[in-house]
Amino acid sequence: MLHSEENVEKCWDLICAGVKQHEIAKTLRLSRSTTSRLCRAAAKKNGNVDHRRFLREHGAYENLMQFLFPRIEFGTKDDCWGWKSGKKPNGYGSVNFNGTGYQAHRAVYECLVGPIPDGLVIDHLCGNPGCVNPYHLKPSLQAENLLRRASKMDYPHGAP
Ligand SMILES: [Zn+2]
Repeated sequence: MLHSEENVEKCWDLICAGVKQHEIAKTLRLSRSTTSRLCRAAAKKNGNVDHRRFLREHGAYENLMQFLFPRIEFGTKDDCWGWKSGKKPNGYGSVNFNGTGYQAHRAVYECLVGPIPDGLVIDHLCGNPGCVNPYHLKPSLQAENLLRRASKMDYPHGAP
């Protein structure tokens, strides 16, 4: 019961919404150790990333979260999450953090999922350039990205 898929999903949603682990424990009415296990399971299942290692490696993480989150129109995993701050004419969100300009969806992806491997672009599986929902973002090679854009197929809506 405690380790149900549903709980793992809930944990991930809360992690994505920037809720801290002790608050997740309270929300789900679980012990801290169970919550910690579920959070690890959620991060592994949903992106196979070590969330906390990323946290440690990025000293600016807390600041970046505090900076990015008020600018995100959070929704469910299936909804596109709108970017409430600056946008480029091409529809991509843009953001300045500590004097450096970033594309909003890349900043959010790195914040919530992990570093984007060198040489990869972030593809919008939903086809909405203003979306910053990490479930709709997938690192891919530029060639794949162009190919996907060129195809007229509907984009799968949800986790890659
Ligand atoms: Zn989207």
